[in-house]
Amino acid sequence: MPYLQCRMTEGRDEVPNGDVCATKQQNGNTHHLEGKTRANKNSDASEKKSEDEKFIPRIKWPDLAAQLFIHIGCAYGLYLCFYSRFYTSLFAFCTIYTSGFGITAGVHRLWSHRAYKANWALRFFLVILFTITGQKHVYQWALDHRVHHKYTESDADPHNAKRGFWFSHVGWLILTPHPDVVEKRIAVDMSDLEADPIVMWQKKYYPLLYFIFTIALPVGIPVYFWNECLWNSFWINYNARYCITLNIAYCVNSVAHMWGQKPYDRYINSVENLAVSVAALGEGWHNFHHVFPWDYKTGEFGNRFNLSTQFIDFFAWLGWAYDLKSATPMVIHNRVKRCGDGTHSWAHDEEALEEMGLVERKKDG
Ligand SMILES: [Zn+2]
Ligand SMILES: [Zn+2]
Repeated sequence: MPYLQCRMTEGRDEVPNGDVCATKQQNGNTHHLEGKTRANKNSDASEKKSEDEKFIPRIKWPDLAAQLFIHIGCAYGLYLCFYSRFYTSLFAFCTIYTSGFGITAGVHRLWSHRAYKANWALRFFLVILFTITGQKHVYQWALDHRVHHKYTESDADPHNAKRGFWFSHVGWLILTPHPDVVEKRIAVDMSDLEADPIVMWQKKYYPLLYFIFTIALPVGIPVYFWNECLWNSFWINYNARYCITLNIAYCVNSVAHMWGQKPYDRYINSVENLAVSVAALGEGWHNFHHVFPWDYKTGEFGNRFNLSTQFIDFFAWLGWAYDLKSATPMVIHNRVKRCGDGTHSWAHDEEALEEMGLVERKKDG
C-alpha cells in the first residue's frame, strides 16, 4: 500500500534504502499490534481521545513577555540602523549568517541527526557559533528536534504544524506543551550527546556562555572597534540580530511545513521551499530532509542554495569532518517514483534517467 510505505518511513529512515525501511517499519508496527486485543485498542483510543479533549494549553507568561520584548526590541533595533554606523548593521548581518552555521551544520545536521562526524576542534567551533545564536543549548535543541522528526505532525510533535502557522512558528514556545510531547521527550535516547564532553560543557555553563557569546561579544565588538554607542549596539547587535536569527529558524518549522513542492513524498506535510533555503543556509529542502533525515546535505543538491553543505564539505576537505552520509541517486529515484508529487525534474525526464543509469536504456527500434 503506497500510502503506508511512504508514511511509515517518515523521519525514521536510518539506513540508506527507502524500500527496506518501509518494510522494516511496517513489520515493527505489526509486532506491536499483535499483542493487543481489539478491546484494548478501543479503550486506549477512547482514553487518548478524552485526554486530548481535556488538554487546553496555558500561556507561559514569562516566555510570552520574553518574545514580546525580543520582537518589539527588534523593531526598535531596525529603526536604529538608520542612526548608527554602517559597520554596526553590516556586523549584525555577518553575525547572523556566520553563527547560522552553528544551527545548520552544528546542532541540526551533526548533533540532532548524526549525519556526519566531526573532530573536537570543529565541534568546539560549532558549539561557539551555535551559542552566539542564543537558541537554548545543544542538548535541549537536539532533544526537541529528534521528537519533531520521530512524531512529525502528531500531538507529540513539539511544533506540530497541523495546529496552524502561528503555533508552529512561535506559539509552541509560549504555550504549555501537549502531554504527549512531555512523555516523548523523556523517552528519547540522548546517550550519544551525553557522551560528548563539548555538548555537556555547553549545557553546564549555558547561562555564562549565553552572556559572553550571545550578548557581551556581539554588543561589545562594535563599541570597542569602531566607537558605536552602547545603546545602539545593544538593540541592533543583541536584540534585532537575535530576533532575526530566531525567525529564520522558526520559518523551517512553519513555512517549510506548509508552502512548497513535495517531490520525494506527497503524503507528508514538509515541503521544498526556496525562500527558506536561501534565508536558512540550505534548510528549506524540508520534504527531502524528512524523508532522508540522515543525509548531511539536508537536500538532494548540495550546491543549490545550500551553503551549509559547502561548509561541511570544506571541513571534510580539511579532514575535520568525516563519515558524511548521503542518499544515493538510485535510492532518491526510487523514492521519487514511489511517493513523489511529480514535481521532481527526474519524474518525467526519461533521457536524464537513462544517462545516469537509473533506468534501463530503451533498445532502438
Ligand atoms: Zn520539520
Ligand atoms: Zn532535522
